[in-house]
Amino acid sequence: MPHVITRTCQGTCNTACATVCPVDCIHGPIPLAQLPAATPRERARDHPTLQLFIDPEECIDCGGCVEVCPVDAIYPDYAVPEPLREDIARNAEFFAERDAT
Ligand code: SF4
Ligand code: SF4
Repeated sequence: MPHVITRTCQGTCNTACATVCPVDCIHGPIPLAQLPAATPRERARDHPTLQLFIDPEECIDCGGCVEVCPVDAIYPDYAVPEPLREDIARNAEFFAERDAT
């Protein structure tokens, strides 16, 4: 029953969730250190489809990431809204593909 980052993250992606995660299970396709230094406008311009993902094997369901997300992009998997439900698999697939390389 892990938490899930939905596509709502795209266009904001400020890494606040990764900063508070106690088990370091939130990652993305580029090094996160590149993102906080950019302004919100620069992030949206330079990385319009970038989003982070939660490793379902590592998440301990503490809910801390939900509290800090400015765009309400994160849900427990059972509560992901219907139009975003395919994002549950997208989170798992990101880590499966990353770990296979
Ligand atoms: S619910 Fe907790 S453990 Fe899971 S991704 Fe969010 S901060 Fe990390
Ligand atoms: S806090 Fe929200 S908007 Fe920021 S990176 Fe995490 S999921 Fe994306």
